[in-house]
Amino acid sequence: MYICMLSTEMAPIAKVGGLADVVTALSRELQKRGHVCEIIMPMYSCMRYDLIEDLHCVYEELWVPHYGQWRAEKVFSGRVAGVNCLFITCGNYTERSAIYGREDDIFLFTYFSRAALEFMYKTERRPEIIHCHDWGTALVPVMYYEIYGGLGWGDSRCVFTIHNNECQGLCWYGDKLLGMVGMDVSRVFSPEKLQDDNAKNCINLMKGAIVYSNFITTVSPTFGNEMKSSEGGRGLNGLLNRFSNKFGGIINGIDYDVWNPATDGKLAANYSLENFERKYENKRALREWLHLSDEWKPIIAVVTRLTAQKGLDLIKHAVRSSLGMGAQFVLLGESPDGRVNGDFWNMKNSLGGNSNVHLWIGYHEELSHLIYAGADLFLIPSLFEPCGLTQLISLRYGTVPMVRRTGGLADTVFDLDRSGRGLEGSNGYVFGNASTGDLDETMSRAIRTWFDAPEVFTQLARNGMSFNYSWENPAKDYENIYNYIKAK
Ligand code: ADP
Repeated sequence: MYICMLSTEMAPIAKVGGLADVVTALSRELQKRGHVCEIIMPMYSCMRYDLIEDLHCVYEELWVPHYGQWRAEKVFSGRVAGVNCLFITCGNYTERSAIYGREDDIFLFTYFSRAALEFMYKTERRPEIIHCHDWGTALVPVMYYEIYGGLGWGDSRCVFTIHNNECQGLCWYGDKLLGMVGMDVSRVFSPEKLQDDNAKNCINLMKGAIVYSNFITTVSPTFGNEMKSSEGGRGLNGLLNRFSNKFGGIINGIDYDVWNPATDGKLAANYSLENFERKYENKRALREWLHLSDEWKPIIAVVTRLTAQKGLDLIKHAVRSSLGMGAQFVLLGESPDGRVNGDFWNMKNSLGGNSNVHLWIGYHEELSHLIYAGADLFLIPSLFEPCGLTQLISLRYGTVPMVRRTGGLADTVFDLDRSGRGLEGSNGYVFGNASTGDLDETMSRAIRTWFDAPEVFTQLARNGMSFNYSWENPAKDYENIYNYIKAK
């Protein structure tokens, strides 16, 4: 099959969150399974160009409509992590120091969506599947059917994956936005199409993708169900219920080549189930790096974007509370909001000389690997979590996750005491309410097990390593969906 992935992020060259990991790893796995996969991205000035091989221009003058005129863009080809990628310049929109956060983000992504379709059309690329991800590429299925369907290109099928429904691409100046790329908003501004179900004067790009795509997926079955409820749907629940026959959840995997404790070059010592005890050398190295004292204590770790979704108050509470329970605590995190970083800096300063805790405020790929390997427990107290990758990584590294029961966390972590699976079938700890009471109760169960029943704790950690959360199974599920909509 020939599949084109359209995305605003991809790892490792333009990564903000899990979406980037998914786009790259799913494409790699689909290639392994014999498919031809290309990723089409905006050519941001802020990408990691040093990680792109053989970058060269393949299309000199791609004419893209822009406010009633046509602008010439260039298309470059290159290889990233073994996948063929196409990068489209988007005038000044792609001259930026970060992928998101500028007022013209929605204009960039709308322009890019049109440019990507125009490129496929002009070069007679006719992928069987156009797979789009999140609000940034949500207009692609809309424009594909509204514009290109009438131009004799109709054989491709569109899949749209919702990685996060917090950002939907809501816009009250739809006439200007769509008009920019030569589309008449009146064609799509209706309750059946792009008009938002609540903010009636706005278009909603994600709604458009849901209406027009041949299939919609999200990144875990539980989050799929949550999105169909009024609490988790963020206004899209009615629509997703209406289209439930073309909507499903597929749990993400992680790239087992990148995340493998047996071969990971960023670790102090490699290990597997056969020599699990070597994991301890990473704990020692982590303590050295972060100036933690070498004591008979478990290390609890958090690696996360510091955003409200991740349960910031619970994370802050956990720092002090776990120290009181006799553990050490390591946090690696960064927020797009300077005030949140400031809060954590204040906390860091107030904990000053405490050699049982280290808060690292920033982004650090290498340190994250050593944390996954060196910690004993990994905390994810998210308020909502579409899938979550960090619990999958910690499981792979034999670090026991403690998570809140929501979204993909509920689908992948099974509580030692409460899942009813017994020790053999469990891999972590799970709590229900986003309350300090539930959090403390669960941290205390985990810490007590570490101190009082080390053989049980080690078994739990080893169980985690035995679960298969690679892309093998999810890629098969996507393949089934592609085949299903192709045949329709
Ligand atoms: P989200 O997509 O909501 O950010 P995920 O759990 O799906 O959350 O993915 C987060 C990814 O980003 C993981 O690979 C995690 O290791 C990485 N990550 C998050 N914060 C940092 C950080 N400060 N430094 C290094 N890696 C980070």
